[in-house]
Amino acid sequence: NDRHTTAVPEAWRSDVESVLLTESSIRSRVAELGKQISADYARLAPDFVVVGILTGSFIFLADLVRVVSLPLRVYFARAKSYSGTRSTGTVHLQDFERLQVRGKHVLVVEDIVDTGKTLKAISEELSRQGALSVEFCTFIAKQTERKEEGVPQVRYVGFVCPDRFVVGYGLDCDERLRQLPFVGIYRGPRE
Ligand code: 5GP
Ligand code: MG
Ligand code: MG
Repeated sequence: NDRHTTAVPEAWRSDVESVLLTESSIRSRVAELGKQISADYARLAPDFVVVGILTGSFIFLADLVRVVSLPLRVYFARAKSYSGTRSTGTVHLQDFERLQVRGKHVLVVEDIVDTGKTLKAISEELSRQGALSVEFCTFIAKQTERKEEGVPQVRYVGFVCPDRFVVGYGLDCDERLRQLPFVGIYRGPRE
């Protein structure tokens, strides 16, 4: 029923098939996550560190930390596994050795969890670096059968989405479309 779907803005119609998450639904969900995280980490605040995974998490993290009412430190590190709309199967981590996470409670902020390979690699790396605790907050968790074994639990999930390639609100296709204020289903062959 058309009255219940939000139209894709004209400028993005050749890239985006449909709107999956509207700007306002994102805003209210992020506010809920912020409250939950504020409550959960209140006790740990002096040692609370947020690590954003670049590039995909940059918008989500910016919105999220502004609704967390606790002192915290923000770091960024990089993880890359996708090329276009496909996973290359290998996760490349960068800049993790510069994070100051030893003895800290770390909340990792991710854009989207698909197979979980990236999470697993990040979790192992942060433990090696001596983090006191590591939890994950992902904007989107994708419903998929292609789950890796031994993937850590994700404590905070913004939205669960179908197994389609999505873009916007930080999520890209070859570095494009990150700037969309909503999340859309990418138009084009999944190839
Ligand atoms: P995983 O290691 O869990 O298979 O993949 C996680 C990473 O793949 C995400 O952080 C993201 O960079 C990329 N990715 C997975 N699914 C999607 C998607 O639907 N859209 C976009 N733009 N990136 C995705
Ligand atoms: Mg990512
Ligand atoms: Mg990407």
